[in-house]
Amino acid sequence: MAEPLETPVSRRLSSVKNIIIVLSGKGGVGKSSSSVQLALSLLNTSPTARVGLLDLDLTGPSLPRMVGLDVPEASVHQSSAGWVPVYVDKERRLGVMSIGFLLANRGDSIVWRGPKKDGMIRQFLSEVRWGDLDYLVIDTPPGTSDEHISLLTHLHPLFIPNAERPTTPAAVIVSTPQTTALNDTLKSLSFTRKLALPVIGFVENMSGYVCPCCGEISDTFGRGGGEKMAEREGLDFLGRVPIDTQLVALLDAVSKGDVPGAGAEGANGANGTGEHF
Ligand code: ADP
Repeated sequence: MAEPLETPVSRRLSSVKNIIIVLSGKGGVGKSSSSVQLALSLLNTSPTARVGLLDLDLTGPSLPRMVGLDVPEASVHQSSAGWVPVYVDKERRLGVMSIGFLLANRGDSIVWRGPKKDGMIRQFLSEVRWGDLDYLVIDTPPGTSDEHISLLTHLHPLFIPNAERPTTPAAVIVSTPQTTALNDTLKSLSFTRKLALPVIGFVENMSGYVCPCCGEISDTFGRGGGEKMAEREGLDFLGRVPIDTQLVALLDAVSKGDVPGAGAEGANGANGTGEHF
């Protein structure tokens, strides 16, 4: 077996057991909300599981809002061992890193060319002090862009499994069932194949609509196209998530701080160590 190349990224991520990259062909299909739901589900796999959530959507970071950390006290700290992620809970089982935490003004936009984005992605991968993680879920921008190429280039040394980390980074692809979204999904799939990135499976989001009155699921927005595509492409179908108005309401409540236990309470602003970024 070839000796893996050691880099600052591979050294930093050597304490992460599994890396899951969430991809989608199109924006707005629920990739970020799926990343959050995946991270929360993985957190529930065991009472001691530790999960990291890394937002690589540099121009449209939405994870801070979705986990209730879109508050001024949720900011990244610099310690001698690297950036301390912002924690969602007091037990520090779910840590989040996003460029959203680094902006002086959360409404600021980032207009960067490729090299600057690459530098930021390298820093996110090599300088965040995650500690021992069972899973690192990486939310990426839609499509296949510079960010994806940077990510996979920096993760490349981790593609050679070893005794400590038998699993290599792998992708989950999210799409809605509409034909246009599925066509773009095929481009994401082709990207994974070109770069030899294994695909764990496919999630069909916004698959049908849950009536807020009776809870019945209707097929107003289509359902099942993703499952057929997964079958055709030889992908594992991981499941479907219907359009659910409760999900939107919950995400809104979390971002307003109405959900007990979520968000700012456990953020570094309240209990962190180290210097302010
Ligand atoms: P992406 O990351 O693909 O751009 P998001 O995860 O930001 O998409 O989702 C876009 C919007 O759709 C968000 O407001 C999110 O709350 C909402 N959304 C995502 N999935 C669902 C769903 N299954 N039911 C209802 N709303 C959803």
